[in-house]
Amino acid sequence: MYWEKEIETMSREKLEELQLSRLKESLKRASRSFFYDKSFKETGFNPDKVSSLKDIENIPFTTKDDLREHWPYGFLAVSKDELVRMHSSSGTTGRATVIFHTANDINEWTNLVARSMYMTGMRKSDVFQNMMTYGLFTGGLGFHYGAEKIGALTIPAGAGNSKRQIQLMQDFGTTVIHIIPSYALHLIVVFEKVRVDPRKDIDLRIAFLGAEPHSEKTRQKIEELYGVKAFNSYGLSEMNGPGVAFECQFQDGLHIWEDNFFVEIIDPDTLKPVPDGEEGELVMTTLLRQGMPVLRYRTQDLTRIIPGPCPCGRTHRRIERIKGRTDDMMILKGVNIFPLQIEKKLMEIPGVGSNFLIMLEREGFNDDMHIKVEVQKEFFTGDLKQLEKLKRKVVEELKSDILITPKVELVEPNSLPSGEGKAIRVIDNRED
Ligand code: ADP
Ligand code: ZN
Repeated sequence: MYWEKEIETMSREKLEELQLSRLKESLKRASRSFFYDKSFKETGFNPDKVSSLKDIENIPFTTKDDLREHWPYGFLAVSKDELVRMHSSSGTTGRATVIFHTANDINEWTNLVARSMYMTGMRKSDVFQNMMTYGLFTGGLGFHYGAEKIGALTIPAGAGNSKRQIQLMQDFGTTVIHIIPSYALHLIVVFEKVRVDPRKDIDLRIAFLGAEPHSEKTRQKIEELYGVKAFNSYGLSEMNGPGVAFECQFQDGLHIWEDNFFVEIIDPDTLKPVPDGEEGELVMTTLLRQGMPVLRYRTQDLTRIIPGPCPCGRTHRRIERIKGRTDDMMILKGVNIFPLQIEKKLMEIPGVGSNFLIMLEREGFNDDMHIKVEVQKEFFTGDLKQLEKLKRKVVEELKSDILITPKVELVEPNSLPSGEGKAIRVIDNRED
């Protein structure tokens, strides 16, 4: 059973005591690494003087650049003999970073993933199909180990090869899938092509959606199209990967596992922590990892802590679904826009399909937003006036939200590039 009741429902007071003792150990381990030894000396931070959780604010932040500059071994806190695995980030925003794990680290990570899956109702009797890339990316092996720990039959399908994915689901009676949300929307078009209805022809009941920002509307769409309950799964390789924060059956925010991570939300400009409820950048500290502790890591992901208890009884706080990365924000004619805002609006419009692509163009001194939007195929076979009407609706709806009039082009299903990995939403052609 992977309901770790004692830990998951521990009183806040006890949980904070546990965090403090784990933090002290984590700091000791971290100071054995080249990077933190240097950083502690330079800033005069003395890990032995930490007596409350508040003292964590004296530790300098760690950034993605720090990890990149100390590639490959600058953060290692144990001898290489102790390591059993490495993973790296997807490199969405530049050169990838690398993380090392000891056998114990893999165990702890596996527990978190198993705990998360169990929380959503997945059990030993389920058949789990993992449609994430295996290899360096953490979404493959991370989930794989968690599912095996629960004892579910695990199909390491990997990413892509859509027809085979559907075949595997049919042949082996898949009940739970792990899938990138943009790929889930893409796959539904393939289901239509091969005339398989995931709601009737397959026994699916749960989907884990992870690796990229998606709106509530997209979740609902996936739930309806597949006939599943879909749970948001958040993680990043620097904090192991999946199993950092996960939705419970109430689907109202993601419990972030505070026995393993110390969590702060900071104002990205002043770098000061903000109170629960306020939006900011998520900052995390590993509390148990031995191979490579990472302290006060600036994730660049924007979210907030949802104040108050969750009806499920778990005491680990919840974060709201990630709004985007600090560097995802587009600034156009002085207006700040996140791709997720556009996704959310588009998904609310009946007739809009699965994929879209934003292009930012500069004409003279003017910045323009061009958006290509896939719509359902009926719009191209029937009365073209309907297509015009839909286009006007898309322009109006977007304008009402982002205050800019985008140039919209409606295109046929599956005509925009769609990979197996994280979706590319924005192409900025404005750079000179
Ligand atoms: P990279 O940072 O290169 O993409 P990772 O593969 O480690 O490498 O991806 C972690 C990042 O993916 C997170 O920091 C976050 O931006 C994004 N991400 C992961 N899961 C989610 C999710 N459920 N919702 C929104 N964003 C997510
Ligand atoms: Zn809950």
